[in-house]
Amino acid sequence: MNLIKKNITKVKQSATLVINEKSKQLIADGKKVYSFGFGQSPFPVPEKIVSVLKDNAHKKEYLPMQGLEELREAVSKYLFSQTGVNYSKENILITPGSKEAMLLMHVAFNGDILLPTSSWVSYEPQANIAKNKTHWIKTKRENNWFPTADELEKKIKMKIKNKNIILILNSPNNPSGSVCKNLKQLAKIAKKNKILVLSDEIYTDLTFNGSYDSISKYYPEGTLISGGLSKWCGAGGWRLGFIAVPDKLKKFLKSLKTLASESYSTVNTPLQYAAVEAYSGDYENYKNKTRKILEGVGNYAYNNLKSNKILLTPPEGAFYLMPEFLGTKFKNSNHLCEKILEDTGVALLPGSDFGFEPKKMIARLSYTDFDGENFLNSLEDNGNLTDGMVEKFAPNVVEGIKKLSNWAKKI
Ligand code: PMP
Ligand code: GLU
Repeated sequence: MNLIKKNITKVKQSATLVINEKSKQLIADGKKVYSFGFGQSPFPVPEKIVSVLKDNAHKKEYLPMQGLEELREAVSKYLFSQTGVNYSKENILITPGSKEAMLLMHVAFNGDILLPTSSWVSYEPQANIAKNKTHWIKTKRENNWFPTADELEKKIKMKIKNKNIILILNSPNNPSGSVCKNLKQLAKIAKKNKILVLSDEIYTDLTFNGSYDSISKYYPEGTLISGGLSKWCGAGGWRLGFIAVPDKLKKFLKSLKTLASESYSTVNTPLQYAAVEAYSGDYENYKNKTRKILEGVGNYAYNNLKSNKILLTPPEGAFYLMPEFLGTKFKNSNHLCEKILEDTGVALLPGSDFGFEPKKMIARLSYTDFDGENFLNSLEDNGNLTDGMVEKFAPNVVEGIKKLSNWAKKI
């Protein structure tokens, strides 16, 4: 008898983590690599938050399985300040990264999952692990890679038999770097059809125009929010996330809490104290500056890549671009990325990992291959960011973009 369950044998290791390790190995082997594959904040965690972590390092007792009350309170207040929606501390679960929160959500959920193309690499595999069926909604570049209300409704009506549905929305989006402009209309359709929405807000603080738009504003009773410290706070490796659920899903949250208690028990104690500081302290200046840098680097990459060979949508948030290569003849986007890595040293992830059909010559580019600490320290409060600064502080991005642009001209 097979030792491994069939649905598990079909799941591959996450493409993001694999490209991170592959890029590091190539660098260790002495190769020049432009690490545009993995998506990780280049900035340091703010000093004050690090010092709170240190101050609490001696705390060794288990915290409540739902998470430290003070932290849930801080997250609740934070979400209220950003969205105007009240997710009470009783309705929040603290998790080791929001990825774990999503996995628990899939494990508990009895229904189907709706994913817009493009969507983050882990949503579909997580649904597969939990044996939830997924349905992709095709989107268009002219709609910023998000579904229109009509497209969403058609998908719900035509394709899905299951009554329980969760739509996963992520804005700003990984991989497209775009912001969803029609949340209100999508909320209307979700409400009308009684489907739930998981709003993955891991990048929402990294919206370049500084706004925090959440579908929960328009559909509070049906929206779950996930988020955490990984992106806006530069703390990906710390592994702290949360999921907040609306009142009517209290029973669902109870199941998530049970699953948490039977798997990771509770998130590590010192980190939860540090996270209280992250969510209750004033980090607006840090956020403004990191957003400004990411926007500057993103625009530099965008301006120097777009051509009659590379189609691109302008960056609006997070730290990704999604170049589409025109006139290429590769079998699929995986081969395209392998060839680019071989020819130029630029590591990208294929669009097929994000829900695009494999033949579409599209890839994800993460423009975070620079020393964020150095860049951040060199930017004055309210200072302007110039291309010259990008050239000085993000040389690997500049060089890699040039290589990629030249490569595309020759194909
Ligand atoms: N959602 C998206 C879109 C992501 O890119 C990531 C990557 N880290 C996550 C969720 C998970 O983040 P974490 O588990 O670090 O909170
Ligand atoms: N979110 C990051 C990415 O998309 C990596 C972290 C992860 O996949 O867990 O590259």
